[in-house]
Amino acid sequence: MTRFNAFSLLRNALSGHKNWTEQWPDSQPKAEYDVVIIGAGGHGLGAAHYLAKQHGITNVAVIDKGWLGGGNTGRNTTIIRSNYLYDESVRLYDHAVDLWEGLSQDLNYNVMYSRRGCLMLAHTAHDVQSFKRHVHSNRLNGVDNRWLTREECKEFCPPLDLSPAARYPVMGGALQERAGTARHDAVAWGYARSASSRGVDIIQNCPVLAIRRDAHGAVEGVETAKGFIKCKKIGVSVAGHTTTVMETAGVRLPLESFPLQALVSEPLKPVFPCVVMSNAVHAYISQSDKGELVIGSGTDQYTSYSQRGGLPLIEHTLAAITEIFPIFSRVRMLRKWGGIVDVTPDRSAIISKTPVPGLYVNCGWGTGGFKATPGAAHTFAWMIAKDEPHPINAPFTLERFRTGRLIDEAAAAAVAH
Ligand SMILES: Cc1cc2nc3c(=O)[nH]c(=O)nc-3n(C[C@H](O)[C@H](O)[C@H](O)COP(=O)(O)OP(=O)(O)OC[C@H]3O[C@@H](n4cnc5c(N)ncnc54)[C@H](O)[C@@H]3O)c2cc1C
Repeated sequence: MTRFNAFSLLRNALSGHKNWTEQWPDSQPKAEYDVVIIGAGGHGLGAAHYLAKQHGITNVAVIDKGWLGGGNTGRNTTIIRSNYLYDESVRLYDHAVDLWEGLSQDLNYNVMYSRRGCLMLAHTAHDVQSFKRHVHSNRLNGVDNRWLTREECKEFCPPLDLSPAARYPVMGGALQERAGTARHDAVAWGYARSASSRGVDIIQNCPVLAIRRDAHGAVEGVETAKGFIKCKKIGVSVAGHTTTVMETAGVRLPLESFPLQALVSEPLKPVFPCVVMSNAVHAYISQSDKGELVIGSGTDQYTSYSQRGGLPLIEHTLAAITEIFPIFSRVRMLRKWGGIVDVTPDRSAIISKTPVPGLYVNCGWGTGGFKATPGAAHTFAWMIAKDEPHPINAPFTLERFRTGRLIDEAAAAAVAH
């Protein structure tokens, strides 16, 4: 694998950039692997990277029905933060932020992690109480989060409208300075390149049709569009399609799949220095390095696998954005898209063993799993390698929906991006 550094850049520049080697080969399936990961999103590719790099398990295939990074990893608005309410969530998301900070170096691939801060706006007395509770809880956990007055919010994010007649008045906000964004495609590409260079096969355009179990009930392999592949262990990381894949192994999960939409504006000069979220109105915004305003919406109210979503949702989101930032009211929108997110009853993820020996699942990230990518992938790989949960993902079991030990971020945050 070519290492990216100043010398390789100079060498390739002098030869007209004609000699760069391919980043990863388009592999065809072998008959048998130690581990098959279903889903080549950031989570699946990341798990393959950590399996190979940290656990020495390289006889691994990552299989995707489409192209790598073509699921929610390549469709999200890339907000990274760890200021969740509950101790379990904070440990998991802050573990991810720790890994984000060194990820470009770890992968020798620039994932463009940008620590620009995330401001969560409070519009009502309830928001103020709730976010101050988050601030106190986070600080007890050693996670940065602080309360800003409305004037400090304006100072941090100048395009904000503070007029008293505003429909969504700003009453203050919670700021996590360590939060930010990263380049979503680069995350998938960086993990793919690293895993592939260590011997992992990445097999694209190959839908997994079923998980097959042996006479004792343990996993035996996967039926795919390219034939049967035998394996000892299977990790499922397919986001919105988790229920359909898992039911082929006879495992039912407490998940619902919804469309979630995002949209971008025409490119503007740099005007928006941070990430702003308005949970009460389900709108959030940042500016990409290309200059587009990246705007996220809420989930549709109906379950669906159509990667589109309804117009009323984004109309509502844009109405809210232009109320909070009137400066953007004449900006034109360039395109919109949707992804299918898998939502659990408590809006926290599942990274768990399953009743089927050798079958592991990483799902339920709903609207907020991009930020968790390195942390989820790292702990998922650990669990697959050792057949036991990492201490950080141990609370995120499937059993919690039976025992009632929920991690109820749904009630805590209302929206989980
Ligand atoms: C519009 C939108 C905005 C979002 N914004 C944010 C945000 O700002 N911050 C944040 O933290 N999170 C956000 N998210 C959520 C985040 O994108 C996801 O939680 C995260 O990317 C999930 O990653 P993944 O690798 O698990 O899934 P994916 O990237 O979806 O990968 C799953 C892969 O599985 C493949 N697959 C499915 N079925 C099969 C099959 N049968 N056989 C083989 N392969 C299969 C798919 O093709 C896909 O490539 C957003 C999501 C959307 C849709």
